[in-house]
Amino acid sequence: MRLSRYFLPILRETPKEAEIASHRLMLRAGMMRQEAAGIYAFLPLGLRVLRKIEQIVREEQNRAGAIEMLMPTIQSADLWRESGRYEAYGKEMLRIEDRHEREMLYGPTNEEMITEIFRSYVRSYKDLPKNLYHIQWKFRDEVRPRFGLMRGREFLMKDAYSFDVDYEGAKHAYNRMFVAYLRTFARLGLKSIPMVADTGPIGGNLSHEFIILASTGESEVYCHKDYLDFPVPDQNINFDDVAGLQATFDKWTSLYAATSEKHDAAAFGQIPADKQVSARGIEVGHIFYFGTKYSEPMKAVVSGPDGVEKPVHMGSYGIGPSRLVAAIIEAFHDDAGIRWPEPVAPFKAAILNLKQGDSATDAACESLYRDLTAKGVDVLYHDLDERPGSKFATADLIGVPWQVVIGPKGLASGTFEIKKRADGSRENLSPAATIDLLTR
Ligand code: ATP
Ligand code: MG
Repeated sequence: MRLSRYFLPILRETPKEAEIASHRLMLRAGMMRQEAAGIYAFLPLGLRVLRKIEQIVREEQNRAGAIEMLMPTIQSADLWRESGRYEAYGKEMLRIEDRHEREMLYGPTNEEMITEIFRSYVRSYKDLPKNLYHIQWKFRDEVRPRFGLMRGREFLMKDAYSFDVDYEGAKHAYNRMFVAYLRTFARLGLKSIPMVADTGPIGGNLSHEFIILASTGESEVYCHKDYLDFPVPDQNINFDDVAGLQATFDKWTSLYAATSEKHDAAAFGQIPADKQVSARGIEVGHIFYFGTKYSEPMKAVVSGPDGVEKPVHMGSYGIGPSRLVAAIIEAFHDDAGIRWPEPVAPFKAAILNLKQGDSATDAACESLYRDLTAKGVDVLYHDLDERPGSKFATADLIGVPWQVVIGPKGLASGTFEIKKRADGSRENLSPAATIDLLTR
């Protein structure tokens, strides 16, 4: 992408309304724009990051055996009356009336709808287990939308729903998602810790929140320090291995980790003092097993081998991709701007032309831009007529992992200067070595 043809509205001043780094940096880097309280437009740069996060989430859901579909954002109130949640959900639900005065709502979550879909088609234990998911916008009229994408009113969620004949099956489904979540957050460059969580209005008795430690997090959390060094299962993990997944679950729940609602000060006190982590955290994912809470009232039943019909056992599993954009920035930034981990970076590299209009420099930049683009590397070519200082500032702000600095001085000795945004290190490389590095 040539910057001259792109849409990247960088702000030089710090927006006053932004209280935390991720919010500030997303506005300054031209990633998003607030359209109403807690409602944002994703600008091109922000959308690139959101899409990359979504894709990693999707790949790990698929790897764990979940099946993608897409449910609508608008739902009918009657569906929610069946589960009893229409009244119970309260003011967080955005209620809408259509032209025929039918009561509708903008979905805050999808347990009811997926249960309705499931019961319409599945009758027998032979069709189980199943796990269906979608990645769709949700609306919750949060009392206090704040911190940009961290707590929006409209936000993107990946929500998966599992269906099993009994508790044992459902526990395996839970473990699959548990492991998928560990892998997902690790691929995003984050250290997530599963913490025992309150089951809240969704109900049920087994629930974990996946938490990223961050000083700006809204949750108060307590955990054992060793979790931060636990190895995450690799991509060859066998999701059909019931005992193996249970062992992974057991290991990752063997030490203390709880959010404030579930905190047990006495148990926490048993941890050696130098291993006690009492910190703030960001909830990036939340998984529940809730049994027959919806299948019973909504009559989602399957017949077993004995022909007897029973309500299915269900679980639900949420991840917030839009919140993750902000959470990743909270974890990876410095005073100059964002430092994207490569897997989610909007572009892998930026070419900074230090002497726009100089024919040799332009030619070297154009040639590298063409070569990298041809090899499928996402590269942003800063081809505007701006001072070098301004180009450096932009590149640092938007956080592209590699900056290729091209100017007459380096070209005289046949090299480009490559700066690695993550640690600020620099080296001079030939054009061929540059292409090598960026296509590795
Ligand atoms: P919170 O306690 O932060 O309000 P929640 O428990 O209501 O979250 P869930 O219903 O479990 O959240 O939703 C699943 C995931 O969706 C959360 O883990 C989070 O990543 C994301 N999420 C929830 N609410 C918001 C929001 N208002 N803005 C952005 N992401 C959200
Ligand atoms: Mg909430």
